[in-house]
Amino acid sequence: METQQYIHIEDQLGAHNYKPLDVVLNRGKGIWVWDVEGRKYLDCLSSYSAVNQGHCHPEIQRAMVAQAEKLTLTSRAFRNDQLGLFYQEICELTNSHKVLPMNSGAEAVETVIKAVRKWGYQIKGVPESQAEVIVCANNFHGRTITIVGFSTDESSREGFGPFTPGFKIIPFGDAKLLKEAITPNTVGFLVEPIQGEAGVIIPPEGYLKEVKQICRQNNVMLILDEIQTGLGRTGKLLAEEHDGIEADLTLIGKALSGGFYPVSAVLSNSEVMDVLKPGEHGSTFGGNPLACAVARTALKVLVEEGMIENAALMGTYFLEGLKQIKSPLIKEIRGKGLLIGLEFFSEAGGARSYCEKLMEKGLLCKETHDNIIRFAPPLVIVKDEIDWVLERIATVLNGD
Ligand SMILES: *Cc1c(COP(=O)(O)O)cnc(C)c1O
Repeated sequence: METQQYIHIEDQLGAHNYKPLDVVLNRGKGIWVWDVEGRKYLDCLSSYSAVNQGHCHPEIQRAMVAQAEKLTLTSRAFRNDQLGLFYQEICELTNSHKVLPMNSGAEAVETVIKAVRKWGYQIKGVPESQAEVIVCANNFHGRTITIVGFSTDESSREGFGPFTPGFKIIPFGDAKLLKEAITPNTVGFLVEPIQGEAGVIIPPEGYLKEVKQICRQNNVMLILDEIQTGLGRTGKLLAEEHDGIEADLTLIGKALSGGFYPVSAVLSNSEVMDVLKPGEHGSTFGGNPLACAVARTALKVLVEEGMIENAALMGTYFLEGLKQIKSPLIKEIRGKGLLIGLEFFSEAGGARSYCEKLMEKGLLCKETHDNIIRFAPPLVIVKDEIDWVLERIATVLNGD
């Protein structure tokens, strides 16, 4: 079958809740993917940072196949021999005390909201049904009813109400406003270290440090959503390390499986997790042996193959290279590690058209909002390949 036939079937039979680029992929290796016509592309999105380790990493693949041949799912009604080892390794790596495994990122967010609410009632002493979680404008935390209920993006919310109460929205990047928003009923502050979907929005230097202090002073749990920024993407294992802090609760997902399988987790450094008792929360697939075996290996290769350090080095190189490109279309270039945003002036005609032109040149990336392209290649990319990317970006921005 040819590209247009695949697209036709998808459009006819699938819900139109996405607007993908018209490229139909059937193979991936490292930073490269191939389409059904045999054309090769460099993947500069990494499935929204779920394939930080590169496509089809051979060691993760072996672990997945080996585990699939042994045991895939026990449910949590029984124990399995991978879960404890997964806990042990991830706790040691991230300096956490407790873990709660789920599948998608949105589920990790839902989980942490339940946990901090319960903590609020049981430990902090918040009156029944009064718990409040503070979030930031332009956040992205997933797509469930509760989560889109506290989104400020109209297209995420419109038509999906009524929404879950108990959330307060403040601007991102201003710690003083957090302080003012906290009440005795505030149980948590949920925030992304860098707002990825919003267009790689980096808060002012020291923001998280200040936020951490304010949370501690007010007995509010700091919850960092590191589903996109975590696991090496910004040049550190967790983005919180740039500010030298530790969140009370950290959410990870996406690259936790290297793109093989949905695996997410809530990591806890506090007493919060202990409020959850048997029967109060769970997931049939959460913590299954296949997920745990994949996640263990995904974490192992991330660390052992130096991907985190590489993200820091290559990120700087990429960012500097982009800044050398002179174009009147560019409003701003910003980034940390290999999470980079290029914002166009609105007169440039929209980021989408540039993504389409880049695709024709063998580079896959995706617009976020109307005027921003996010560049986030797998963390295994090397200098020559970044040069190759920069050359194509320069060509397209200069109108060829
Ligand atoms: C992708 C993402 C999520 C949601 O993860 P899903 O697996 O798509 O549910 C939540 N938070 C952030 C910051 C993300 O980037």
